[in-house]
Amino acid sequence: MSKPIYCDKCNQEITVRDDLVTALMVVEVVPYHEACYAKDLKGAKTFFLDNQPLNGFSGNITFIFAIIIGLLWLLIADGGSKAASLLALIPIGFRIYAYLTYERHVEK
Ligand SMILES: [Zn+2]
Repeated sequence: MSKPIYCDKCNQEITVRDDLVTALMVVEVVPYHEACYAKDLKGAKTFFLDNQPLNGFSGNITFIFAIIIGLLWLLIADGGSKAASLLALIPIGFRIYAYLTYERHVEK
């Protein structure tokens, strides 16, 4: 089951997974064409748009680190810092959200 994913900048459908960039804008995950993402990064949205894409190589590295750090922290922490360790898990939530909402609908 797939649904069309539309670029946040040009409103055209994103058809190839390699061309899909998911990024965090304030607290929302938005899909982009790779080229449109680069344009928005340099444009007016630059203060709101995370310059680290959620997907792709760097996103996956961040994802893996977030899991490791989050879990280690959860194991060794107690009391108040246990709550703080949950903050480390937020990027994991965004990454999974980006995958479920956008990436899995776009063909590889
Ligand atoms: Zn676009």
